[in-house]
Amino acid sequence: MEISLEGKNALVTGGSRGIGKSIALTLAECGANVAITYARSADAAEEVKRQIEERGVQGMSLQADAKSTDKAAEVVETVTDEWSGLHILVNNAGITRDNLLLRMSKEQWSEVIETNLGSVFNYSKAAARSMMRNGGSIIHISSVVGLTGNAGQANYAASKAGIVGFSKSLARELASRNVRSNVVAPGYVETEMTEEVGEKVLDQIKEQTPLQRPAKPEEVARCVAFLASDLSSYITGDVMKVDGGMGM
Ligand code: NDP
Repeated sequence: MEISLEGKNALVTGGSRGIGKSIALTLAECGANVAITYARSADAAEEVKRQIEERGVQGMSLQADAKSTDKAAEVVETVTDEWSGLHILVNNAGITRDNLLLRMSKEQWSEVIETNLGSVFNYSKAAARSMMRNGGSIIHISSVVGLTGNAGQANYAASKAGIVGFSKSLARELASRNVRSNVVAPGYVETEMTEEVGEKVLDQIKEQTPLQRPAKPEEVARCVAFLASDLSSYITGDVMKVDGGMGM
């Protein structure tokens, strides 16, 4: 059995690098047209668009700060108009600004909440109207840290836990219109976001992970592709951990 997304149009926020890039390429591999957004990495985003098109589908790359509600509406309108509809939304864009609570500035708090959780509101709201006509699948990238908490990441964990409540509410609101909403919660994944953690922390993470290694971005992307496809047609409001057993 194969995952087929032929005839579907997908939008992935933060698709220029890391997990978002892998998700974009995997969805394209499965036959979907894929649009990505990015904040700063224009060249990298253009290269991802090229690699999407190399897979025989249409690609689009759009600069859009995920914190902007207006920009999200604009991006969704562009994709929906150009490709006559949107079927898959992956809310992936995210950042960290780690600090212990007593040292955490209001800016560090707000930047993370607005980017990681605010963007989920912005894009889900903009996409829901279009999806309600023909059905769709919304996948939000949270983190195992949103389920367990993590010292030094109160802002990040709060944003990622918020996504879980948001997604479950959306699942209830949109089920009657055949729009599903699910969360993927990765553990530690090898990307630029995590490459500076250092040897000691990496060893600790491996120790806490039954599979004893970090995930590769494509291991997260495959779970997203499943949730985007009709193979998961009876799954909504769920949280799927892709964490090597770390969060059990
Ligand atoms: P990276 O830092 O490698 O990539 C982040 C992506 O998000 C980039 O494409 C970046 O665009 C984009 N982005 C960041 N801020 C904005 C913004 N304001 N507006 C639009 N796009 C933005 O991160 P990862 O790939 O590691 O993480 C992707 C998601 O997965 C995040 O939500 C993260 O929290 C989550 N996650 C990651 C884990 C990990 O171990 N790596 C574990 C669990 C969850 P640009 O290139 O332009 O900066």
